[in-house]
Amino acid sequence: MEQNRTQKHTVVLVPLPLQGHITPMLQLGNILYSKGFSIVVAHSEFRPPNPLNHPEFILHPLSDNLSGYQASSNNLVELILAINSNCRAPLEDYMVQLMEDQKLQGYQVACIIYDSHLCFVDSVATHLKIPGIILRPDMAVYMLAFRYFCQLEAENRISFPGSRLQEPVPGLHPLRFKDLPYPITNEIPEWIMDFFASSVNIRSSVAIILNTTDCLEHSTLSQLQQCYKVPCFPIAPLHKLGAAATSTSFLEEDQSCIAWLEKQPPNSVLYISFGSIACVNEQELTETAWGLGNSGIPFIWVLRSDSIDGSQLEDHFPEAVKALLGERGLIVKWAPQKKVLAHSAVGGFWSHCGWNSTIESICEGVPMICRPHFADQLSNARYLTSEWKVGLEIENVLDRGSIEISIRRLMVDAEGKEMRQIMSVMKDKLEAGLQKGGSSYESLNDLTEFISQLPSMVQEVKVDDPATSVSKNLIQFEGLKNLV
Ligand code: UDP
Repeated sequence: MEQNRTQKHTVVLVPLPLQGHITPMLQLGNILYSKGFSIVVAHSEFRPPNPLNHPEFILHPLSDNLSGYQASSNNLVELILAINSNCRAPLEDYMVQLMEDQKLQGYQVACIIYDSHLCFVDSVATHLKIPGIILRPDMAVYMLAFRYFCQLEAENRISFPGSRLQEPVPGLHPLRFKDLPYPITNEIPEWIMDFFASSVNIRSSVAIILNTTDCLEHSTLSQLQQCYKVPCFPIAPLHKLGAAATSTSFLEEDQSCIAWLEKQPPNSVLYISFGSIACVNEQELTETAWGLGNSGIPFIWVLRSDSIDGSQLEDHFPEAVKALLGERGLIVKWAPQKKVLAHSAVGGFWSHCGWNSTIESICEGVPMICRPHFADQLSNARYLTSEWKVGLEIENVLDRGSIEISIRRLMVDAEGKEMRQIMSVMKDKLEAGLQKGGSSYESLNDLTEFISQLPSMVQEVKVDDPATSVSKNLIQFEGLKNLV
């Protein structure tokens, strides 16, 4: 592809092909493209980005031996490990070729930005002496929670009695032990511990970018910055900074949601979605349908075809529930979520609390019902319900009465109105952060400048004699030492 950009610098992105991970990576690509960088996406063959949605990017598939693979919550670590071992050589071969081509065109690869789970990229970057930068798609506190596990393991303190689950985790307010990413009452298998350790090890990365922001995590970000001696750039919400309306969905978005919402009164509709991976069992699904039906609240409910543990969705509901749900709502396989949440008819979001969904909801001032399933969803839900007070939890997800009460608390009662008001304040704060002088705006400018300077800094590091002189830049950016 002919490149003609204001910056003669190319940024290579290496995303993890899970919806909640590839989305922020592509959004970051849009932002950096708007800042004048050329963008190359080196992606797995498994679940590639749709080239029609990203005509401005160069997309390059890496051979991954994953044909026929199905991602589910049970095999995510397996997927991550497979990509890490299968894509290393293809990435290195491609990067060598790309760097030669770039040189001919007068361009230079400034850095590789990669998903925090893809540590193979670090070894390629170090080998080729290209700076690597990590993108974290989650809250900063989640990285600290992983570090806490590693610390417990090092001190041989894993495996707590169940009675301690409600206790606060030292240094990780507001989290309790039950909000951590793994049930701490069990022995943790070695391979899971290795995974945690690998996720918090930034190796030779020269910086960390986070899809979070100072107004949400001020003290946690300071804590994180103390743990890592490289610059951290909290820039959020990424989807509000890049080109509007580029879809990053693997599944087709059902646009009929929007026309349907046009006919509903303000704040009347409950939007329900459990993201791209979480599943419910048959009993929870049926109780949800009854609770929703009995609540009388209009709804849009996303039920992916693989939303139910071990069975197909088709014709799942008993006729009685179907009649109750009737015309009052829409059930779709995948929604244009950001547009749905931004619609004035939507008054609440029942969510699994994935970080993208959470921050998208905050951005639109929509209060939430929190039904976390695993991983960072637990800590995100804790923040929503206890720290920010903009979400509520259902007492018993297997009881239609409890579900009905929770829906009405959020959608009808004064409690829901109060949460909507707090959300609206949070929304304003996020928006302020995106304006000139705001924390995300400034952090993005710092990142842009940092990336622009990387090629000359690397050059400087290379010509420095590390035995006799210490470059100013070396002191500033620890990770560059590895490129000498
Ligand atoms: N999403 C969507 N349509 C849907 C459901 C989800 O576009 O019907 C998007 C949502 O906007 C979010 C992403 O999928 O950007 C899900 O990411 P999240 O981190 O919330 O959860 P995950 O799928 O990783 O569990």
